[in-house]
Amino acid sequence: MPADEGLRGGVRPSHGDTQVEEGDMPIMTADRGRCQGWANCVAGAPDMFDIDDDGLVVLLQTEIPETDRARIDEVAHRCPVGALRATDS
Ligand code: SF4
Repeated sequence: MPADEGLRGGVRPSHGDTQVEEGDMPIMTADRGRCQGWANCVAGAPDMFDIDDDGLVVLLQTEIPETDRARIDEVAHRCPVGALRATDS
């Protein structure tokens, strides 16, 4: 397993923006350097986000199905430190 993969097969980015592009779906990025572990994202979308042993966000998946885009965008906007971003690939 690559060093940057973590909890439950999710992507565990190092500090700074990370982006994994796979296919044509929108992509979620998480800036762990900004994350303060408030877990709003986990409460809103436990299928997409988790908190690791360091108390920081970890992505459980990076691709956002179009049917989930509005829900995930809403959750990302609720991050109090702006650590989450959904971008079109
Ligand atoms: S809501 Fe933002 S600050 Fe809170 S855990 Fe998620 S990414 Fe981190």
